[in-house]
Amino acid sequence: MQRQVDLDFDEGRYLKLLTNLIGETEHLQNNPPKFIPEEDRAVKHVVDALQPYTKQNGGLLTIEHVTYVEGRGNLIIEYDNDVGCSTTTQKGTVSFIGSHLDVVPANPESWERDPFKLTIEGDNLYGRGTTDCLGHVAMITEMLIQLAEKKPKLKRKIVAVFIAAEESSKIPGVGIDMLLKDGKLDHLKAGPVYWVDASDVHPCIGTSSAAIWALKCIGRLFHSGLPHKAINSVELAMDAVTHIQKNFYQEYPPHPCEIVYKYEAPSTMKPTQIRTAEGSVNQIPPWAEAQGDIRLTPFYNIDECIQKVEGCVAKLNEDINQLVSGDRGPCSKYEISLPEGDFKGELEILWEGEVFRGIACDLNSDGFKALDEATKEVTGSSEPYSMTGSLPLVGEMQEAGFDIQICGYGYSSVYHSDNEYCTLSQMKIGMKVFNQILNKFNQ
Ligand SMILES: [Zn+2]
Repeated sequence: MQRQVDLDFDEGRYLKLLTNLIGETEHLQNNPPKFIPEEDRAVKHVVDALQPYTKQNGGLLTIEHVTYVEGRGNLIIEYDNDVGCSTTTQKGTVSFIGSHLDVVPANPESWERDPFKLTIEGDNLYGRGTTDCLGHVAMITEMLIQLAEKKPKLKRKIVAVFIAAEESSKIPGVGIDMLLKDGKLDHLKAGPVYWVDASDVHPCIGTSSAAIWALKCIGRLFHSGLPHKAINSVELAMDAVTHIQKNFYQEYPPHPCEIVYKYEAPSTMKPTQIRTAEGSVNQIPPWAEAQGDIRLTPFYNIDECIQKVEGCVAKLNEDINQLVSGDRGPCSKYEISLPEGDFKGELEILWEGEVFRGIACDLNSDGFKALDEATKEVTGSSEPYSMTGSLPLVGEMQEAGFDIQICGYGYSSVYHSDNEYCTLSQMKIGMKVFNQILNKFNQ
């Protein structure tokens, strides 16, 4: 292959930018209302690093700082150096998006190092956001500087998009959701879109849809010495969750495509939290609430799944006593007639936060082939994998016509964890993979 692009990696410059970025992470923590990030603190360092290479300064980069909420900007950076033979109106693109400027909170007390400062120990670079995702922001920035310095002529425009507000969807209207709505990314349909926020070098080819649910179970409070006068909301919660799960697993068994995409787990619906009305052990509590999530592989439709779960709950409410198995003794009933009146248990299902849509990346697209081949060329092998975790908006973007492919060069073992780190050597591998991708799209 003819190598039109041959980028180096300036370690000193990379570490300087990453030091600046990690130094801001105390103010980039995202978990509202306690932590609302100020992404512009990170934006400033990236812009400072790129400034000498902008068109205004005689270079080849354009920078657009796009802000929807004050202090919480996104960055769109383009490298365009035409080969000069293009007569087509719409130029192709290769884009690197999804690397985000916010981080999940870190608790300094449980870290062995200062999470808000870059600590370099040999090849290891410690600090909140090194793997997820500022290590990528610094790597892609270094790639843009390398392009701007070496000025290779490329048939396509190279676009990088650094986004705000990735780690929490509690405050909408800040990041990629707005960039999409605003049409700021439409032109990226003209080429592969690499979402750079995964890890472990190999291509990530699938994620899952995710929906968070809460099942409120209303019973009747009474002295536990008179259980025939109560409706036990804890038992109702247990039986209702069992029934709903049974239904779910009948509708959503392991899907044959999960093997092709190498998912380690199939679709699941399970409770992860449970709470009840406060009281004492000799009271039967009037309400209990189970909470949990649904993780659905992308071969099933999450909207339809939510409707089915709601339908299942509605049917239970029509005849709540169908949940009585007898296994909980003769006094455990969900509909009772007493001299003082008739009482009935009730269920209510609520969905919390935004629904994430999973994605099965297109394995036949040029975008995937380039990533797969580039990974092989750089590391000797490419082992695509899928995860039952979720990423925001990738599913919607694929539906809207983007060729989304997912990759990343940190470590999944330290995602959102204490003592998060990345390595300089693996970030360099990432840059080499991107270098190869740029070459492939310049044939
Ligand atoms: Zn991330």
